[in-house]
Amino acid sequence: MGERIAIIGGGIVGVAIARALVLRGLGDVTVFEKEDRLAAHQTGRNSGVVHAGLYYQPGTLKAQLCAAGRVSIRDYCAEKNLPYREVGKLVVAVDESELPALADIERRSLANGVPDLARLDGLARLREIEPSVAGIAAVHSPHTAAVDYGAITEAMAQDVRSNGGTILTGQEVVGLHIDGPSVRVRTTTGEQLFDRVIACAGLQSDVVARLVGADPSPKILPFRGEYWALDPARTDLVRGMIYPVPDPRFPFLGVHFTRGVYDDVHVGPNAVPALAREGYGWLTVSPKDTWESLRWPGAGALAKQHWRMGIDEISGSLVKPLYFRKARRFIPELRMRDLTQKTAAGVRAQAWGRDGTLLDDFAVDQVGPVTLLRNAPSPAATSSMAIADHLIEHYVFARTTD
Ligand SMILES: Cc1cc2nc3c(=O)[nH]c(=O)nc-3n(C[C@H](O)[C@H](O)[C@H](O)COP(=O)(O)OP(=O)(O)OC[C@H]3O[C@@H](n4cnc5c(N)ncnc54)[C@H](O)[C@@H]3O)c2cc1C
Repeated sequence: MGERIAIIGGGIVGVAIARALVLRGLGDVTVFEKEDRLAAHQTGRNSGVVHAGLYYQPGTLKAQLCAAGRVSIRDYCAEKNLPYREVGKLVVAVDESELPALADIERRSLANGVPDLARLDGLARLREIEPSVAGIAAVHSPHTAAVDYGAITEAMAQDVRSNGGTILTGQEVVGLHIDGPSVRVRTTTGEQLFDRVIACAGLQSDVVARLVGADPSPKILPFRGEYWALDPARTDLVRGMIYPVPDPRFPFLGVHFTRGVYDDVHVGPNAVPALAREGYGWLTVSPKDTWESLRWPGAGALAKQHWRMGIDEISGSLVKPLYFRKARRFIPELRMRDLTQKTAAGVRAQAWGRDGTLLDDFAVDQVGPVTLLRNAPSPAATSSMAIADHLIEHYVFARTTD
């Protein structure tokens, strides 16, 4: 059966890696997931968008793996008969101040090979795509799609099981010890020996990295993204996806309108600092997580750079009219009562360096036989199958002894 390989984390990335390994006969694979189900955190709580690669700095891992990952996810959904809807996306400049950033997105998109991208100028052109939108210019990506990442993860998990792999839920990895050529993996229920370990622990990726003595930096800074549901009677205001031109100083895309794969329309996500790694509401507070963030060396630098945006995002989270005002910029016909209720929030695992910078690109560390995925924010769900190929090719089997 080959080498014994443990994967920590049953989100889409961990399960995609497990699937790639078992299908290629590269090892005897076991996935450990601490929750009692797969996709319980970021994978099951996101916007469900298959990104086409508009934003990313050309040449980065995000740019390369998003392009490859989009095609793999599309083909996988077709193969498994999973829903995949190419609803398309419009990135809209509402006023002239946003035109330079829009031009930059257009340049990046073309460099990244985003298929069939179009630049649209003037309200009439925008309204051919989205009849209710307001704005002066946009880029349109017709192949941006909506999916259900939880369902995709389940289907991949089924492939793992039916090809001899093991998926263990309700098993938190609490210890990792490199012992000669092997790694002792201690969980809440026991201990097993493996030849290699791959950690894709999302919001806990720095905690797992510390188990094996890796550099504590980058640390994870949890950013919650909250959504509002659009009244089903008003979803005709949005045909596909309507996005703002994002602030280039910040690694998030801004509150947007998304027609989901099941035809619901949601508005969001914002980006507020979460008070716990898995803090899905203001009332979930982890004094330990919060204290560790406050005393991180980069905390002062981050606060100095982003305090204004932080206050703006927190206000929008607590005061609905402020959230609504941002959304209405793009759809003037929107009424406050059209945002009917808050839906399940997600928390982004954003890697944060000692110097206060928020890491933009995907990041991987290798400690002997242990591969650690340290930063896998959006578009990592889109890119998951390509991230699996990348880790297998460049990291997992790259080491000999340590
Ligand atoms: C609000 C929001 C919107 C987003 N929108 C999009 C989008 O539209 N498109 C897109 O491509 N991406 C999007 N993303 C990003 C995407 O969801 C993530 O990049 C992706 O899900 C990361 O997958 P993962 O498997 O690395 O992490 P996760 O899904 O977080 O999985 C990590 C798993 O590891 C488990 N774990 C942690 N520690 C341990 C341990 N010690 N032992 C065992 N198990 C452990 C956790 O329980 C968890 O299930 C969004 C994210 C958020 C939060």
